[in-house]
Amino acid sequence: MTGIIVDPLSLKQIREFARKIRIMFGLEEDGYVDIVRIYEYILQSIGVTFEIVDCASMGDKHGETLIGKNVIRIREDVYDRACKGYGRDRLTMAHELGHLLLHNMKNLSLARNTSDEVAAYCDPEWQANAFAGELLAPHKFLQGKSVEKIANSYGISISAAQVQKNRRKG
Ligand SMILES: [Zn+2]
Repeated sequence: MTGIIVDPLSLKQIREFARKIRIMFGLEEDGYVDIVRIYEYILQSIGVTFEIVDCASMGDKHGETLIGKNVIRIREDVYDRACKGYGRDRLTMAHELGHLLLHNMKNLSLARNTSDEVAAYCDPEWQANAFAGELLAPHKFLQGKSVEKIANSYGISISAAQVQKNRRKG
């Protein structure tokens, strides 16, 4: 836990937001999302700086979003694997996009101390994870599909497909 809390967002609100982002970005409501293309073409056009950073500078961080500066930094190897279609790395890029779109200076505050119990809905990591899953694999289109089929058709890992399929209806 980072000690940062944000305005609460329900799963339902995050789903609706991810749906709108698909529409804004000119994507179908369902189907595979080319997250690398979003970074390279769409983010540029809305004034976001996308940096690919070498492993030595990023250390064990896969990606980070500089709130207020409109900068997303993705570790080089994560970016390379996302380009090849690896689900885990595609999800990392979708997660950072979630931070960029959902979290800004206005709705950030610090928990009184890091041991404070923070409700999931106010946790920026929970929100960015929920957004990433919804953006890549919208929950309402997953019912009746096997986890393997979900992983394949949406380009996410088996474990992410499992989590996304089993999320509450909202
Ligand atoms: Zn995060």
